[in-house]
Amino acid sequence: MIADSPSPHDPSAAAIPAFLDGSAASRRSLGRAIGAAVNAIGHDLVGRDRPYSGHSPTALDELLGMELAPEQGTDIDAVMRRVGEQVIRNSVVVSHPWCVAHLHCPPLVVSCAAEVAIAATNQSMDSWDQAPAATHVEQRMIAWLARECGLDVCADGVFTSGGSQSNLMGLLLARDRAVARLGGSVAVDGLPASAGRFRIICSDATHFSILKAARVLGLGDVAVTAVPADREGRLTATAAESAADDLMSAGLRPIAIVGTAGTTDLGTIDPLDELAEVAQRLDAWFHVDAAVAGALLMSERERHRLTGLESADSVAVDFHKLWFQAIGCGAFLVADGADLEPIQLHADYLNPEPADSGWDPPNLVDKSLQTTRRFDALKLFVSLQVHGRRFFGRCVEATIDLAAEAAAIIERDPRLELAQRPTLNTVLLRYVPPDGGAETDVDQVNALIRRQLLLSGQAVVGQTRLQGRTWLKLTLMNPTTAREDIRRLLDLVATAGAAADHSAVAGADDGA
Ligand SMILES: *Cc1c(COP(=O)(O)O)cnc(C)c1O
Repeated sequence: MIADSPSPHDPSAAAIPAFLDGSAASRRSLGRAIGAAVNAIGHDLVGRDRPYSGHSPTALDELLGMELAPEQGTDIDAVMRRVGEQVIRNSVVVSHPWCVAHLHCPPLVVSCAAEVAIAATNQSMDSWDQAPAATHVEQRMIAWLARECGLDVCADGVFTSGGSQSNLMGLLLARDRAVARLGGSVAVDGLPASAGRFRIICSDATHFSILKAARVLGLGDVAVTAVPADREGRLTATAAESAADDLMSAGLRPIAIVGTAGTTDLGTIDPLDELAEVAQRLDAWFHVDAAVAGALLMSERERHRLTGLESADSVAVDFHKLWFQAIGCGAFLVADGADLEPIQLHADYLNPEPADSGWDPPNLVDKSLQTTRRFDALKLFVSLQVHGRRFFGRCVEATIDLAAEAAAIIERDPRLELAQRPTLNTVLLRYVPPDGGAETDVDQVNALIRRQLLLSGQAVVGQTRLQGRTWLKLTLMNPTTAREDIRRLLDLVATAGAAADHSAVAGADDGA
């Protein structure tokens, strides 16, 4: 059997080198392997007329019951062909104009190309000796972003896997500062009993990762005070302040205010400057979740809407949303780099105390919850270099304009109802049966529309709840989508609505 088990050292064992080893042959090998991947994308992703194949979870699970770890390998072309036929063909086409369920962007071509360089060089961002140049590129990108946000020169930060991790970091620093103000240290002693009185003020439109962070941080759901958003979906200063007053009269302690720049459903931007003032009066941490609307920084037309961002104690930005980067790519910023101290922990093998090692290179693990970490900053760097910042501004503006156009079409169509005028790139709508119908029936019909469009592969549309009702959601992430694409999609939704309405009525009749 020895002959059947090729050794990684035996050059005759494989036609192409298995590892990138600096030889021309291994570079060609990488090119060939990438070519196989690009071919698979070409056959099974690009140009598909539907955003999804339509397979149900059960059907997909059956289809993907392939052997996972064969004793003997197969040629990359054959493997990629199979990946194309089975996996890529049953993936959602993120660039399709009717793939509009989530904040899920079509990636820039150059971001995908940068992924190859990231993977092939495989730098690890935890320590300088694993990522010398990469460390400085990331640091400079962070400094650039902090300046764009209007933060002070002592700002700092780190790239993250995305908004959830960035939000967790923001609330972790808020919690630890609150404990420090009481003379304690979470790092040394864990949570004091008084942490049971900590409260985080946000709106009920805040992303659920804030709640998850509160759980992870040992504060629990009870620590999150979700104030009802106003009609436009905003957390107003008045509401935040009165919530804080109520909490304090009950002997509780508001330790943080979370402002959102671009809520997930309505795209609402909270009045950041006003919330910053409230936070300051309360001596509370002000975290801004700019996962979505952070991209407005690139638009001269839109960036004024982020006024107040410069007063944040910490900021979350997602580049794998409206910056069109391949997943994952996010950043976490703090206004004062010294505040990152609770995250710093020294390991002899990785980032020893400068006094012990005799020198002090920047080891980014000092600022991150992750240890081994990808060089995601390179994707954003390459994309900004190739396209320039104005391109990003125009792309974001295009998605905002598309949402406004979609809303105008919905308002003119008697079969559809618009929840409210969009503020960013999302549109909430629903189908209304010609005879009106009970609210719960309308909810059901709209849920059915979404499911039927998905399971026929025709369109991937979002669904959410607003003021107790079910709404369909279009999240317009593709700047190249045409108005006509939207008009046809909305017609499809209305047609599917009429069909779903009939089948729901028929179902009710059957049951009677
Ligand atoms: C998407 C989103 C997040 C979570 O970000 P991930 O990158 O998915 O972890 C947080 N906040 C808001 C407002 C979001 O839209």
